[in-house]
Amino acid sequence: MPISPRGALCCMLVASASAATAAEPPRRVRVVASFSILADLARNVGGEAVEVSALVGPNADAHVFQPRPADARRLAEADLVLTNGLGFEGWMDRLVRASGYRGPVVVASQGITPLRAGRGFDPHAWQDLANTRRYVANLRDALVRLQPAQAGLFEANAAAYLERLAALDAEVRRALAAVPPERRRAITSHEAFGYFAAAYGLTFLSAQGSNTDAEASAADVARLIDQIRQQRATAVFVENISDPRLVERIVREAGATVGGRLYSDALSAPGTEADTYLKMFAHNSNTIAGALKSAAR
Ligand SMILES: [Zn+2]
Repeated sequence: MPISPRGALCCMLVASASAATAAEPPRRVRVVASFSILADLARNVGGEAVEVSALVGPNADAHVFQPRPADARRLAEADLVLTNGLGFEGWMDRLVRASGYRGPVVVASQGITPLRAGRGFDPHAWQDLANTRRYVANLRDALVRLQPAQAGLFEANAAAYLERLAALDAEVRRALAAVPPERRRAITSHEAFGYFAAAYGLTFLSAQGSNTDAEASAADVARLIDQIRQQRATAVFVENISDPRLVERIVREAGATVGGRLYSDALSAPGTEADTYLKMFAHNSNTIAGALKSAAR
């Protein structure tokens, strides 16, 4: 008796069903993110379907990162590489070439409207929650392209996370609305809060530019000290990725006080106050709002 197409289909279905039962769940997508903030976003969007690591870890400065051979080996084993773009990771192209990695390199900031800084762009776009919405959409789309079978999971995770971003944005706006217009000035060690300032109507000044690879000039430091002396309603912050001594010297010479610690380019260590992007953003906003409201006049 000839084997009918129906019979063949039936047997194929049985065979594939038994294979699926015996098989392990799909291998997790290995994601290597350039720095801790992107890694956290990828974990939220990818959920149980991804295994994420960051090249530049908590409290570390991606501007001056120097990749080691172990980083190239990690990249070689990745399924997806995530970068911020906008010139943030000047070391990434060389590292990708050195590693032999041939997979997709996703630029998370793709599609945002960048702010200019010096001759290039300000890379710190994640300091505006509206930009982070774009980051999340880009990560979701990249994961769906790579692993279409799990598209539903990635889409649901991204939608839930976008809701959390929207709720946080409303909270931040409420907290900062309480700061009077004449008190909306802040100082940090490097220029990392341009997007935050633009989103929430503040002014940030810094001793260093938007890249930490150049030291603050004596003239810039003297200018900041003068500004703090003249405008007493200015809050001064240290950053988790920067040596606090520069800011401490500025506040000492200006007769001011440190308004708190901000997380600019990296999360804090696991288990501490800013170990996720959402906690980091809430912490920064609360610290800025609190310090500006109480800044001496
Ligand atoms: Zn920076």
